[in-house]
Amino acid sequence: MRIAYYNHTSSVSGAEINLLVTAAHYKRAEVTIMAPEGDLLERAREAGLLVVALPSYNARLSRNPLRLAAGILGMIRAGKQLSDAVMAGGAEVIHANSLRAGMMASLFYWRHRIPVVWHLHDNPPKGLVGKLIRMYAAKAAQAFIAISEPVMKGFGSSSGTVHLIHNGAVLSPFSELEKKRYRIDLRRQLDTPAGGRVMVIIGQIAPWKRQEDAIRALHSLIQQGEENYLWIVGEPKFREENLHYLKELQRLADELNVTRHIRFTGFRNDVDQLCCAADLLLLCSENEPFGRVIIEAMAQGTPVIATSGGGVGEIIEHGKSGLLYETGNIPQLVDHIRSLQSNDRLRKQISVNCVERVGGYFSIEQAAAKTEHVYAQLVRESAERNNRLEQTKGVAK
Ligand code: UDP
Repeated sequence: MRIAYYNHTSSVSGAEINLLVTAAHYKRAEVTIMAPEGDLLERAREAGLLVVALPSYNARLSRNPLRLAAGILGMIRAGKQLSDAVMAGGAEVIHANSLRAGMMASLFYWRHRIPVVWHLHDNPPKGLVGKLIRMYAAKAAQAFIAISEPVMKGFGSSSGTVHLIHNGAVLSPFSELEKKRYRIDLRRQLDTPAGGRVMVIIGQIAPWKRQEDAIRALHSLIQQGEENYLWIVGEPKFREENLHYLKELQRLADELNVTRHIRFTGFRNDVDQLCCAADLLLLCSENEPFGRVIIEAMAQGTPVIATSGGGVGEIIEHGKSGLLYETGNIPQLVDHIRSLQSNDRLRKQISVNCVERVGGYFSIEQAAAKTEHVYAQLVRESAERNNRLEQTKGVAK
């Protein structure tokens, strides 16, 4: 099966990492990544995947009528360019890796006649825009893949072709010895005491990721006499407000006098190793659609404390394979951190259970196989459609 994987941006976050990791695990699908030149394509080339560079395009739609019109025109142009590329490459399925990518890929379906599967990674926009997008999607897409139940429900299963496929993680490729090595080396690199307690929070720096809650929890622990360190891993992406948020976080750390205990690492390419080097992972997001980083940490046996909203509850069974707390509830978060740090048995049990949980439900092999199943179904349906069309033409002659 020849699959054109279309990503409308070259910036790399969870959706793009999922794309790269899954594409590397297909057994039958031959993937070509189509995206603007940049980080994603560089990583894809490094991974030995086929790539096609498309002209870049600003995908943000505005309320300003002139900018909106320019945005729509840009989208039509991008859709046409994609359509040329998929036809030239002989793709049998287009895998559109976001809502916007789906909209552009489906725009020229009448021309390329290649089935399009929209991969839904985020909660859909609210209000009239969201409603219009859902109506268009129900008519335009041949199938959907949703990364969690809330994302699937938020989108409304207006058509019967929504597949729930959680992200998959690669189970720990590291030996115990290697893990110990990362612990020593990375702590040294990040100027953190070898025996100190380390919490890590990983993801784009953005207000909805609520890294501020991790800083407040750290402050509270230190006030209670519990020495701890916090690594804030990631960078602000996509929006100006995210850059401001990073400054706010640094200000907050200053105000609370915890700067000495925090390391802002920026974007890192060694997330798996960082998870091994830390004692636990925090995820403080408001309504996280899935949280790929959770399964990455769990795959290393690193216990996770996460907010209970969004898709997180599908991954973590509270008290068994991790701990959940209510978004923004700092005392509850601090309680959970303290109980993990003070209770060896609980920590070890969760560490074993979370690896099992990822192996059982969130392995990359399962995610890749389910996605290939969707492709096969789309190829079959498309062939049937084309046959029917040929027959109708035959009868008409
Ligand atoms: N990530 C990374 N380096 C960083 C921060 C994040 O490689 O400095 C990766 C992380 O390992 C995960 C992805 O980015 O694979 C983030 O995905 P997630 O679903 O957790 O969050 P998103 O940013 O997509 O909302």
